[in-house]
Amino acid sequence: MGVREAFTELYGTAPEGVWSAPGRVNLIGEYTDFNEGFVMPFALPHTAVAAVSRRTDGILRLHSADIDGPIVELRVDELRPLTNTSWAAYPAGVVWALREAGHPVTGADLHLSSTVPTGAGLSSSAALEVVTALALNDLFGLGLTRPELARLAQRAENDFVGVPCGVMDQMASACSTEGHALHLDCRDLSVRQIPFDLAAQGLALLVVDTRVKHALGDGAYAERREGCEEGARQLGVSHLRDVAYEDLQAALGRLSDERVRRYVRHVVSDDHRVDRVVALLDAGDVRAIGPVLTEGHVSLRDDLRISCPELDLVVDTANASGALGARMTGGGFGGSAVVLTEAAEADTVTKAIEEAFAAAGFTAPRVFPAVPSAGAHQVGRSAS
Ligand code: ADP
Ligand code: MG
Repeated sequence: MGVREAFTELYGTAPEGVWSAPGRVNLIGEYTDFNEGFVMPFALPHTAVAAVSRRTDGILRLHSADIDGPIVELRVDELRPLTNTSWAAYPAGVVWALREAGHPVTGADLHLSSTVPTGAGLSSSAALEVVTALALNDLFGLGLTRPELARLAQRAENDFVGVPCGVMDQMASACSTEGHALHLDCRDLSVRQIPFDLAAQGLALLVVDTRVKHALGDGAYAERREGCEEGARQLGVSHLRDVAYEDLQAALGRLSDERVRRYVRHVVSDDHRVDRVVALLDAGDVRAIGPVLTEGHVSLRDDLRISCPELDLVVDTANASGALGARMTGGGFGGSAVVLTEAAEADTVTKAIEEAFAAAGFTAPRVFPAVPSAGAHQVGRSAS
């Protein structure tokens, strides 16, 4: 049953509309977004789809087809940050953030269903936030731009749910376009759509979900963030984005702390890797980005130290079995990796990774090809 039919069954009337927002993978530029640097994610074909109607009585009703449970009923004027620990905090947080920003959201009924795997580093949370934000923007005629919606969705996750995250995931979900990667400047949220048609080049980008999430990751994000801020402070810049790659060696020489030096080296060099990938894609040399991806992984593994045995095994096995390059993607300590390979070699590489995981006694990974897909949009009647 589609979300439109399920909504009608749940709430007794048809929804006013249906909206869709995708999960994402990040091609290059990791832990650079909160340093006001550069990233290059693209949207996955996996989406959160929500059927939504306005209400005028201050009631917010939320339901997910993917969660076993009743309709969650809340009052919009009683929403308080950090008080709701269930999945409903994500859409409720968006309503809260919109109202905090002065937008007259007077209630809603929402039912959603998502194909974005949760907790795999593919941003099921951002998909949920952005689909809610776009639906409410359209229904209440708020006239917000995509970057404004992404910022409000980020605020919902940071301040209402209580998860510190940069703005990349929400921007990727809100602003991606089919067949393109999104070159995003996280300082001013300006974007450039970079054509990224892998199939036309005879290439495939595999997403490998390791199916693990190590507890080590708890608190690591905040620690890396603090270390980056310390580095910026010691170098006298507002954010590490302001350290030019040409000045990196000199900057590292001015840092006394070995840990901070590693973090600075990762961030400044990953910003530079984004530049290099953009230049290669502009030149039509897609295959040449492979080694840059692998370099990025080494930096995340050795300098930022956010990889794990499963992610390293994906990257090492992929590269040893004929892939063009590979890296972990997202927050690290588990989640997913991306592998660039000739399309003709995709099966061989996939099999090699599956066999390596079995031999290591790891849970079998989930491998699927990522096709750069559309960003958030309203779904037509017939397509819902
Ligand atoms: P990721 O964004 O990497 O998938 P997160 O931990 O940030 O992982 O977000 C996952 C959370 O988002 C889930 O625990 C749940 O609360 C919420 N969520 C994601 N998809 C759905 C869904 N289809 N229905 C309800 N909640 C969802
Ligand atoms: Mg998330």
